[in-house]
Amino acid sequence: MRLDQFVSNSSGLSRKDSKRAISAGRVRVDGKMTKSANSRVPEHAKVTLDNQALTLPGGLYLMMNKPAGVISATNDSSQPTAVDLLPPELARQVHIAGRLDKDTTGLLLLTSDGQWSHQVTSPRRACPKTYRVTLAEPLDEHACLALEQGIELKGEQKPTLPAQVLQHSATEIELTIREGKYHQVKRMLAAVGNHVVALHRQSIGDIILDPALVPGHYRSLTAQEIQSVA
Ligand code: URA
Repeated sequence: MRLDQFVSNSSGLSRKDSKRAISAGRVRVDGKMTKSANSRVPEHAKVTLDNQALTLPGGLYLMMNKPAGVISATNDSSQPTAVDLLPPELARQVHIAGRLDKDTTGLLLLTSDGQWSHQVTSPRRACPKTYRVTLAEPLDEHACLALEQGIELKGEQKPTLPAQVLQHSATEIELTIREGKYHQVKRMLAAVGNHVVALHRQSIGDIILDPALVPGHYRSLTAQEIQSVA
């Protein structure tokens, strides 16, 4: 996380006032005065403002291995939701940062921190998301190139941003996209004449689905994972 953001989040000062405090030499990182607002705060560093230690407020930041058959919603009386899989005391506090379709599995982020989830999902940040995609038909070179260059989707004014394709087999690919349009992966593959049989999200930015999490299970994110998004 950037130093000015750390100071702002932990002290309640605005970002502008935090920058002022930093350039005035009031902030120290591990005892060393630093006047660079955009320097990164190392993990476990002690940050002080006017010699008072600063700590980030405790938010909830979770990753879940979303199973198929649950929807990405906070609550829905008619269908089971991913949030229903959490104990009620956690479920009450979190929302989903980046939805998945009901039949999509894999990495789902849940948090109580609205600013953080905005950073995960904001189109301006173009946070990369990687999906393992099982296809009905082999992906040919032409289709692969179209995905990599950007593709026009029905009802959208602009083509998709260039995606990365890693081919594991004729019908198994890893696709990295930097947007989150409605049903984007399925629509991209449909636009090149294919069909998604199974979809699994593996990562969002530097946050990779923990292989120890069986479907439906969750764990807290580490400080490093949380800060990787900021
Ligand atoms: N793209 C889709 O089509 N579905 C998802 O669940 C996620 C990305």
